[in-house]
Amino acid sequence: MGDKPHPDFMKAGKIAGKVLSFIESKVKPGVKVLKICRLAEEKIMAFGANGLAFPCNVSINEEAAHYTSPHSDTKVFPNTGLVKVDIGAHVNGYISDTAITVDLDGSYEKYIVAAKNALEAAIETVRPNVRLGEVGRVIESTIKKQGLKPIHQLSGHQLKPWTLHAGKNVPNVGMKVSSTMNLGETYAIEPFATNGNGTIKSGPYAYIFSNNMKNKKKLDRDTLRVRNAARQMFKTLPWAGRWLHGKITGVDANVAIKALQRAGAIHGYPVLYEGKDGMVSQFEHSVFVGPTGAIVSTRRDNEV
Ligand code: MN
Ligand code: MN
Repeated sequence: MGDKPHPDFMKAGKIAGKVLSFIESKVKPGVKVLKICRLAEEKIMAFGANGLAFPCNVSINEEAAHYTSPHSDTKVFPNTGLVKVDIGAHVNGYISDTAITVDLDGSYEKYIVAAKNALEAAIETVRPNVRLGEVGRVIESTIKKQGLKPIHQLSGHQLKPWTLHAGKNVPNVGMKVSSTMNLGETYAIEPFATNGNGTIKSGPYAYIFSNNMKNKKKLDRDTLRVRNAARQMFKTLPWAGRWLHGKITGVDANVAIKALQRAGAIHGYPVLYEGKDGMVSQFEHSVFVGPTGAIVSTRRDNEV
């Protein structure tokens, strides 16, 4: 582990930051969620990434995470509320993971302040050997200053090449965990603020999947083709069901996805909702643990 971030880690971060700056003003009442997903994913590639680290997540209000549009989604943004846009790029497998929240009509200012300030306060704590529980404690106390709660059932996470959730977690609440951030490691830090109870429940639908590369279960010919194509295209990184639509000639992607889930060949990530259907905000940055503190790869030019 060096004391400087890998150039590809910084490049992946810069790209994702530029995409969020571009997308932010496009998230407005009446706009299709699918349009934003497609636009963000197009821009990640146009700005020079080698690939998407995961599908563009666009989660509204009590949806905390993991919503991405299915193929032909007609869902539009409401007139008021909180929209989390969470994106990831990779450059040679080096991942960026970053998110903003858009307040559609300015009614939810304290949610924006709570999650954004918590992220900045957490970034300030980053240094070699800082306890992960300390980072969580700072996130929790910053969010509580706005009269809100952190979502304790979601956390930040270590980033490693080709692995989005790698090893250690960064809690969003104070916890007695002795493990530390170490020099040269990379993390995504992502506070979530809510007026609910801070828990998470899974919804009935999943639109994001990942490959179980070791699964060898016997499959029919068409399902096997889809499995092999998904392994080849997305490797260990999460993908959207939408991305497979029309990709494999003569195969209905949704049928194949269901069969692959039943066989255990892929894993589905259901849409996650706040436990009491509270409103949810989120901000996220990717950071490198440098000798004197965090080096943020996903910092945006227009950020204060
Ligand atoms: Mn994220
Ligand atoms: Mn993340």
